[in-house]
Amino acid sequence: MQFDGVSQTPARYEPGSCVDALDFLLIGCGLRGTGLLTANADLLRYRVGVVDASNTLGPGSFDHYRIDSNSYGHDFFGWVDPESVYGQQLAHPHVRALHETEGSFALSLLASALRPFGAAIKQAVGPARIWTGQAVVKIEVEGDSVAAVLEDGQRIHTRFAALALGIRECPQADLLPWRSKTQLSRQIIEHGVPARWSVQAQKIVITGGSHSAYAIANRLRQEGALAPNSEVRILQRSGTKLFYASIDAYRSSTHTALEHRPNVQTDVCPQTGNLFRYSGLRHAARDTFERIATAALPRFTQTRVDSLKNARPWLDEADVVIQALGYESNCVPLVINGIQTSMLTEGPIVDTTPDGRLKLANGQISPLFIMGMNPYPYDDNSLTPTGQYAARGQQILEALSQHRVAVRNVMDNSTT
Ligand SMILES: Cc1cc2nc3c(=O)[nH]c(=O)nc-3n(C[C@H](O)[C@H](O)[C@H](O)COP(=O)(O)OP(=O)(O)OC[C@H]3O[C@@H](n4cnc5c(N)ncnc54)[C@H](O)[C@@H]3O)c2cc1C
Repeated sequence: MQFDGVSQTPARYEPGSCVDALDFLLIGCGLRGTGLLTANADLLRYRVGVVDASNTLGPGSFDHYRIDSNSYGHDFFGWVDPESVYGQQLAHPHVRALHETEGSFALSLLASALRPFGAAIKQAVGPARIWTGQAVVKIEVEGDSVAAVLEDGQRIHTRFAALALGIRECPQADLLPWRSKTQLSRQIIEHGVPARWSVQAQKIVITGGSHSAYAIANRLRQEGALAPNSEVRILQRSGTKLFYASIDAYRSSTHTALEHRPNVQTDVCPQTGNLFRYSGLRHAARDTFERIATAALPRFTQTRVDSLKNARPWLDEADVVIQALGYESNCVPLVINGIQTSMLTEGPIVDTTPDGRLKLANGQISPLFIMGMNPYPYDDNSLTPTGQYAARGQQILEALSQHRVAVRNVMDNSTT
């Protein structure tokens, strides 16, 4: 059998598959895709390809966010083995600058730190197996083979793929009555506060109580962002989650009625003891929440409502409504054995099986692994990013290894 040094998949194994099929294709190479590859350099033992709709591997959505982080600079790249093919990038000035930050940092710095890792992926995988500047518009699974179809009709064939397509914000039906004055939170997160708001007083309602809502409030409270006499009201349903180092730290703090009360069983990280380890507000967004909750920020108010219907008077009188009600998985059309299939089994976020694959409604085993595609990927509240990249990488490596054994058996049987 001929090996090309990267792949050991013989071209003639799968009757219906393409001769140049990859072993593994990463679809989407933002933070999570980059994390997966750079934490698992062993994947390079296989014939790997990467496709991303943008022109650059690495930064993903962080290239567009004009807000500060809700995480720490030292949270990132601990998953990269310094001895691996990606290890050299740890000394890159942007990576070092990120690691040296304390507290919150501009997310553009994270984008800059991800870029050298993206470049290293391109080099390690080989430019011939990198497709950038074109989105995957459809994924077709036929038997054991996957084809990712690009905008220009090109088809990339592979045995396994991981989807790391991130999340998207879609207009919410509840806000349809106010659609003419509603804008998505990402318009401000990506483009900043409109200049005209600094000239003409605005009544602004922000719906939602997560990091996005307070990151926007934080922008609005900056000197000169809003004309005098402007008013900002945050409407939130279930209380705002704040990060605490431990349950004791929570118990010894004072709380307002606007704060979410934790459930000790589910909201405390079993590894660190942190409360709301990923979803809880930190840094400037938290400061903004606390000032509003204690009425220390004139013209900013926050109200808890059961439903948006009960918030009608505020929504009616607002000049602008900002939707910060969350995200959904950034799915693409999926066809399995000729049948159009939804990537969503329940709710707006793709579900994964315990072995990291896309969960399908009919219980079929999918050759598609999922990396993130959830605003809070660590929703079991226990895995660090490092742990999650390692876990998913191991699952993919295991599948690749089993496939290789199966291929060898088929080859051995066909030659005897
Ligand atoms: C407002 C906001 C603030 C956040 N702040 C933080 C923070 O401070 N710290 C933190 O750790 N996390 C934060 N997150 C959460 C999360 O880490 C980020 O959303 C992060 O960008 C997720 O990385 P990702 O790789 O899953 O998605 P993305 O960064 O969005 O990457 C997805 C990649 O897939 C590509 N892609 C998409 N569709 C296709 C397609 N059809 N075909 C081919 N390629 C495609 C895109 O071009 C992109 O490169 C924040 C999220 C939001 C929304």
